[in-house]
Amino acid sequence: MAGQHLTPVEDAVSHILAQATALAGSETVPLADSLGRVLAEDLLVPADVPPADNSAVDGYALRTEDFVANQPLPVSARVPAGQAPAAIKPGTAVRIFTGSEIPEGANAVVMQERADVSDAGVVIRADVSDGQNIRRRGQDLTRGDLALARGTRIRPQEMGLLASMGTARVPVRPRLKVAVLSTGDELVEPGVALKPGQIYNTNRFTLLGLLAETGCDVVLCETLRDNREATQATLKRAASEADLVITSGGVSVGEEDHVRAVLESSGELSLWRMAIKPGKPLAFGSFEGTPVLGLPGNPAAVLVTFLVVGIPYIRKRQGVTDYRVYGEQLPAAFSVDSASVRKEFVRARKEIHDQQVMVAAYPNQSSGMLSSACWADGLAVVPEHTAIIPGDIITYYSFAELLG
Ligand code: AMP
Ligand code: MG
Repeated sequence: MAGQHLTPVEDAVSHILAQATALAGSETVPLADSLGRVLAEDLLVPADVPPADNSAVDGYALRTEDFVANQPLPVSARVPAGQAPAAIKPGTAVRIFTGSEIPEGANAVVMQERADVSDAGVVIRADVSDGQNIRRRGQDLTRGDLALARGTRIRPQEMGLLASMGTARVPVRPRLKVAVLSTGDELVEPGVALKPGQIYNTNRFTLLGLLAETGCDVVLCETLRDNREATQATLKRAASEADLVITSGGVSVGEEDHVRAVLESSGELSLWRMAIKPGKPLAFGSFEGTPVLGLPGNPAAVLVTFLVVGIPYIRKRQGVTDYRVYGEQLPAAFSVDSASVRKEFVRARKEIHDQQVMVAAYPNQSSGMLSSACWADGLAVVPEHTAIIPGDIITYYSFAELLG
């Protein structure tokens, strides 16, 4: 796939995905630490949730056959939440609260707003039907069913579900260990004054943020000088410590692009000119058996190529099976005058124009500009060979969706 022609984005992504294998192994973590982790096993429901029939409301439990309109039923017991109730005495009602277990024999609960209480008992001003206001045992999760499948990423609701089944420790995939290597003699770290010719290392921080959002462990984070030996030595260290090495810059075809050169001579390399905008050559290969994803150097191109190419790859390595990205079809509030041979990912956001949701684009789409991405909430896709006029329907992906 190497060469000078422009490889369509989809082809580059499928080539990279074909080489992605999920990390082997698993570990167990406390439930409280499981957010964002990926389940390593199918988890079956160990016992019914809820564990017993319980009341959906505050009110009175009774047997439907004891109900007679306007006739008071004496209140024979009270079941606060957390107590095991005795069986209901026939011909009586039981005071009950939301979540309290239904006494054996009772088959309906009347909400307290429909009940008048006096010394004689409780008079019900409503129809009473079998099962009314009762949450059935096992209605959320039934013993033996699949609760959550292997490959599921744990969100807050999955944490709660696992807690509801009594799971205290969760079998998860290991975290993907990633090395972040920024390249460039011009780079200095924020916090020091710039000398002529220098710029701040931007990509390092964009990538640290993206990797934190995707639940990766950054095990090494270095800046490489544009020097062959240093590049080789650091790549070697990164390859031994990480499951994935991500570089930025240095993958063009200039003589200072040492990442490409080292991968070519001592590793393995597929280098593309991807038909993507923003985006320069993207490298994928390996060094001493560890995959290397070589992103472009321009800051906006780093963000876009990481979201479009890096995330699907990382999700597959993490063993995620529920990764999918759905774009929204929305009218454009912008125009793209000249059709391009490259698919363009426009830094964009949803805005309301004349009571209609439309996709607006940041006016300057330079690949060096991150202010555009900070203004934006996502990316709008302008297909290859396509010009856009306002009102045309385009596909829009929010950043949150792309991080999926
Ligand atoms: P390169 O592919 O190394 O030629 O980089 C392309 C452009 O991106 C150049 O203008 C670099 O100065 C810039 N660049 C590369 N790496 C970074 C970085 N980590 N932070 C900010 N700009 C960068
Ligand atoms: Mg460079």
